[in-house]
Amino acid sequence: MEAERAARLGHNQSVVRSLNRRLDHGLVTPKEPFPTEGPGFLCECSNLDCTEIVYVGLATYEEVRRDDRRFFVRTGHDIPDIEQIVAAGDGYVVVEKLGVAASAATPDA
Ligand SMILES: [Zn+2]
Repeated sequence: MEAERAARLGHNQSVVRSLNRRLDHGLVTPKEPFPTEGPGFLCECSNLDCTEIVYVGLATYEEVRRDDRRFFVRTGHDIPDIEQIVAAGDGYVVVEKLGVAASAATPDA
């Protein structure tokens, strides 16, 4: 995998993450298919067109995203070239970015 692609994929995930931050602060109104009831966040995989929902409680979400390199993605949405699975739950996995993708996903890098 070339570094440029890895950096772009890492950046994509930080874009989705900032959208999720706005959602949980009530700054944007969730649109379909984002659920208006129950805990759920947009899948944070590297595909910007992905609108799948990861159903996970806010406490769990907050805990994982305390580390800027870690993201929630739907099961099967991970990209082994740039990230490794560090945890798995019902319908989702937690991935940790590797190398260049990790720096691109970290805001102050
Ligand atoms: Zn996805």
